[in-house]
Amino acid sequence: MRRLKRVVEIGKVKIGGNNPIVVQSMTKTKTRDIKRTINQIRRLQNAGCEIVRMAVVNKDDALSLSCIKKSVAIPIIADIHFDYRLALKAIGEGVDKIRINPGNIGEKWKVTEVIKMAKDNNVPIRIGVNSGSLPKSILKKYRHPTPGAIVESVNDAAKIFIKNRFNNIVISAKGADVKDTLSVYKVLNKQFNYPLHIGITEAGLPFRGGIKSAVGSGVLLNAGIGDTIRISLTSDPVMEVVAAYEILNALGLRQHGPILISCPICGRCEVNLARIARRVESRLKKYKNFMKVAVMGCVVNGPGEAREADFGVACGKGVGIIFAKGKEIRRVRETKLVDILFEVIDENVDN
Ligand code: SF4
Repeated sequence: MRRLKRVVEIGKVKIGGNNPIVVQSMTKTKTRDIKRTINQIRRLQNAGCEIVRMAVVNKDDALSLSCIKKSVAIPIIADIHFDYRLALKAIGEGVDKIRINPGNIGEKWKVTEVIKMAKDNNVPIRIGVNSGSLPKSILKKYRHPTPGAIVESVNDAAKIFIKNRFNNIVISAKGADVKDTLSVYKVLNKQFNYPLHIGITEAGLPFRGGIKSAVGSGVLLNAGIGDTIRISLTSDPVMEVVAAYEILNALGLRQHGPILISCPICGRCEVNLARIARRVESRLKKYKNFMKVAVMGCVVNGPGEAREADFGVACGKGVGIIFAKGKEIRRVRETKLVDILFEVIDENVDN
């Protein structure tokens, strides 16, 4: 059962409450390299990223934020560690949200300074605890970043915000271990009424990292936990956005872009189905519409899946039958199959 959280506004994007799960990513450029950062954010926007975070590690990064904000269409978040003064500068530059890790900001008064300025400027703050950067005192007590240690760290940080009557908060406590992250979020979801940002941090390269993220985030989302998501991959950040929507689409929580259904191939297949599927997947990238496209190897499951999808092909020996909206359209030779499938798609969708 989903527990609705209070709504937090990050620029024009609302998270929490009944709002859709928001997809975010993080730039991988030096933020002070304004041109490259803007280009990367525009690529992320085109892929469907709804809010974007960037590392602010020095004054030059902080002073680049207002220019970046003016040049992009989605809300921007400054990611701050260690130096509370950078958070103050980022707020002054007009960012839509800041993320701080109270565990490494230091004394409480520094966090309080950030809270005061965020309050005056109506800027939300994410309390972003990470298993890899817990305060020394907590690590000393627990010896390892256990779920208990992470929850205690979030609670300690949240107390400072609550004491200052600041409720414009999002909470995250991502870890690299899937089971520990699940345990932590189950507790936080019960404890707090603030929206939760979820994900598995440092998940890895796209294939394994995508699987690990899908397991971790998928379990949480399916339990109704999570208001915004980032898939942390060692890759082009556009892959993070693509992976996030795959997870959300799979759970029926969003409907974003095309979904490819393709069979795993077996001894009954009489076409080069892997090649056909790869070509279909590549050509589908330019479509924004939510639609299901099935690419199936034979008559066993082919016609059934192809009919259920919005568009599909069910192959036979060197041929395929094209389906659209549940109806058989025509029989086509393997060599022409992909081109004709896309002619049919284009006749039926406004992209
Ligand atoms: S659809 Fe046909 S070829 Fe593909 S896996 Fe199923 S039985 Fe095999």
